[in-house]
Amino acid sequence: MSAGVCPHCSDPFAVLQVEFDLERAAQTLTAESLKARPMNHWRYHELLPIEPDPEVFGWPIGMTPLIEVPRLAAWAGLGSLRLKDDTRNPTASFKDRASSVGVAHAMQAGATHIACASTGNAASSLAGFAAMAGMRATIFVPGSAPAPKVTQLLMYGADVRRVQGTYAQAYDLCAHECEANGWYNRNCATNPYVIEGKKTGGLEIAEQTAEHPADWVVVSVGDGCTIAGIANGLKQMHTLGFLERVPRMLGVQASGVHPIMSAFETGAFDESAESGPTMADSIDVPVPRNWRKAVAAVRESDGAFVAVNDDEIAEAMRACAALGGVFAEPAAAASVAGAKLAAERGIIGPGETVVAVITGSGLKDIDGARRIAGEPVDVPPALQ
Ligand SMILES: *Cc1c(COP(=O)(O)O)cnc(C)c1O
Repeated sequence: MSAGVCPHCSDPFAVLQVEFDLERAAQTLTAESLKARPMNHWRYHELLPIEPDPEVFGWPIGMTPLIEVPRLAAWAGLGSLRLKDDTRNPTASFKDRASSVGVAHAMQAGATHIACASTGNAASSLAGFAAMAGMRATIFVPGSAPAPKVTQLLMYGADVRRVQGTYAQAYDLCAHECEANGWYNRNCATNPYVIEGKKTGGLEIAEQTAEHPADWVVVSVGDGCTIAGIANGLKQMHTLGFLERVPRMLGVQASGVHPIMSAFETGAFDESAESGPTMADSIDVPVPRNWRKAVAAVRESDGAFVAVNDDEIAEAMRACAALGGVFAEPAAAASVAGAKLAAERGIIGPGETVVAVITGSGLKDIDGARRIAGEPVDVPPALQ
């Protein structure tokens, strides 16, 4: 139903791109008109590939807070750090931006059944929005998906197929089943509409930083959709005059699984590269379908990539919560770990301002968090 790759070439990584008439959008999308609009990401509907619809625009998604975190900044060796707290979306991850647009687009295309393959957040998010929209959802998860994430999507009423294999295998099976059954495929990697939902993270950061611009926006990278979407949103807001300059993008991968960082460095994608395990399950993507868009977005912004190991991620998780007040899942805290590493390496300068995107809640994988947090002190119920 949505074979979103180029029909003219045989490259499976040539994912299509939705283009907007920005001149036309500029006539109605202005700083003045935004003031009167609802505090959710539908406020940028001129830049989204869906028709205005009161039901869809009632779904509460986006316009998450941008939080100044001076103690966390000091810990990371940064002059200024703000967290874009996307744990506050309806199903507690950034993926809600993509799923809300995917489900809205599917509804408007007349679909009644939507599917995706996911390591977790895209799935629970799709299940949540399908529930809001009254659509059926079938989710293919890899065997390694954390139990709390699987539980979350079962609660939303989705039909869950746990594939005894890798994410790549779950992905291929999903594509096949969508084709065979006429289901709408939400997979960000091949659905060019869904990435437009991820763009709203960038649109919001642009609006929220208009007065105090960010030099860097830091995003953890799995498939590559998120960073490419955010970068595109920042660029469009620059074109529309909301932002004086476009921030540089810092992509953060796990040191065990960094095919996009390697492609950025070597200019080529090595499909056969070995990948090691990482605790950051949401960015554990050995074959990222959107590596081209991610590499191009970071390069165009004059940005950089770093890779962080599990110890650095665990430390950042603890610091994010204890010093920033935001409980992030490992893949989300990876952005803060990456910003710290980039500061140590001199990639981010001491006077530069940084926004790190917190893409998912620590409550998503409480077992992982427990190993880092340790145990409480047991005391008897006596006053002395
Ligand atoms: C999906 C996800 C990412 C990375 O997004 P990609 O589009 O796969 O690059 C980062 N953090 C969290 C929590 C995610 O769920």
